Amino acid sequence: MNQETTNSIMEPHLESIPLEDREFYSPLGNFEWHLLQSDDDIGDYSIYLDDHVTRIRRTNLEAFFAERRERNQLREQKGLQAEKPAKGHWFCVYEVTGDSDDKPCTMCLKTDHFQGLCPYRHYVSKDAKIGPGGVLVCKCCREEGGHYGTDWIACVTDNICMICRNAGEHGTEECPKKRQSTDGGQ
Ligand SMILES: [Zn+2]
Ligand SMILES: [Zn+2]
Ligand SMILES: [Zn+2]
Repeated sequence: MNQETTNSIMEPHLESIPLEDREFYSPLGNFEWHLLQSDDDIGDYSIYLDDHVTRIRRTNLEAFFAERRERNQLREQKGLQAEKPAKGHWFCVYEVTGDSDDKPCTMCLKTDHFQGLCPYRHYVSKDAKIGPGGVLVCKCCREEGGHYGTDWIACVTDNICMICRNAGEHGTEECPKKRQSTDGGQ
């Protein structure tokens, strides 16, 4: 490994972030240096390498790394080497703690965000429990239910109700209108 590559991967001093950005981001989260590899889906997580710092929710960063782990596993299963981290990037990571009074996200059923910000929109493991507001799709081609076998990455998109056209709160089977008409018929 040449000197330049080593330098780009080692965590630099915090002072390498321009003062302006450091002052802007420090009240908004914790600075963390993370390595990126060339097949990471950085666009989907709004990570722009031209920016000195990317602000990201902890849950989305966790999804980002979980997605990479699965990509690396899939490569290994095919006898390919996992991509090596190519460069590093500064993140400003912030946590959102749930309030038990909040309505749970209808996609992942956690309470620290509403479904518009659900990390499952970026990545979900294929065996995760998905709430009524979401439907599992292939991240690449958006095919509902994904594909045969394991060689694809899953994420979740809005479950659109075919009865009331509601997006993201319930599926067709759980539609309150359907329930009403069923109750009325008894
Ligand atoms: Zn969620
Ligand atoms: Zn696909
Ligand atoms: Zn409905």
